[in-house]
Amino acid sequence: MTEPAAPVEEEEDESKHVFFTLGGTNMNIRILERREELIKFILEDVDAAFANSLRRIMIAEVPTMAIDDVIVIENSSPLFDEIIAHRLGLIPLKTDLDTYVLPEKCECGGEGCANCQVALTLEVEATDGPMTVYSGHLKSQDPKIVPVSEKIPIVKLAKGQKLVLEAYARLGLGKEHAKWQPVSAAAYKYLPIINLDYEKCDQCGACVEVCPREILTLRDGELVIGDIFNCNLCKSCEEACDLEAIKVSYDNKTFIFIIESTGALPPERILEEAAKILTEKAEQLIKEMEKNREI
Ligand code: SF4
Ligand code: SF4
Ligand SMILES: [Zn+2]
Repeated sequence: MTEPAAPVEEEEDESKHVFFTLGGTNMNIRILERREELIKFILEDVDAAFANSLRRIMIAEVPTMAIDDVIVIENSSPLFDEIIAHRLGLIPLKTDLDTYVLPEKCECGGEGCANCQVALTLEVEATDGPMTVYSGHLKSQDPKIVPVSEKIPIVKLAKGQKLVLEAYARLGLGKEHAKWQPVSAAAYKYLPIINLDYEKCDQCGACVEVCPREILTLRDGELVIGDIFNCNLCKSCEEACDLEAIKVSYDNKTFIFIIESTGALPPERILEEAAKILTEKAEQLIKEMEKNREI
């Protein structure tokens, strides 16, 4: 008798289920884990092309703030101006998508104004001895647009060295430069399915020994399948079983997603923005097709 292992059933909690519609398809999202900068969820009733589109948009097309222009006023540190500017650009900044617009979509035409640009200043001198300049030394003109951490090192100064600069942050896209990516990880895998034939299994424990994720255990002489969401589909258990009692496959319409934000935006907002962008692209495609039909 073959019994597919069901995902570890938690108490039904409606708050963990989110539904949204795209092109008339109902998709079910079930949240598995939520932390300040990470969200792990199951996305059901979609195919790999759709899941990958969402992933790619999250990486490349959801805008975030990053420093893009630096005016160095004084720099007696051991690093060249260009290296300091590069390091500043890579500091993730908290982003406010409701206030700021992309410079190319701004009324100023990209010249830089209060709607598309934020100024940050830095002035540090090592008066008492060697010291490190951190992201926390940056003073922003908008308290909402600040580094996600105050502890990111920029440069070390020896006694008497000084760094004074002005920096300008703006919204941008990951496809232009990685400094504008809102995610440090956006990945998915198929939902694993583990089938165990209890009649064939002699509880030898060989599969337990080889499982790198400790999903399989022997409890009171019986093989128990634990957290299948953690299975990496390596099939080592299958290979270790001489009796062909265990089979690992996957559901190609259900995905386990993990989104880890750089801290610029909450992970749910990144997903929401990616879904909006994908919807806009689909609507644009339909409009273009209709226009061509009329010609
Ligand atoms: S290796 Fe095969 S027979 Fe041994 S415990 Fe695992 S499933 Fe059962
Ligand atoms: S496929 Fe790999 S990770 Fe999954 S249960 Fe088998 S051995 Fe463990
Ligand atoms: Zn502007």
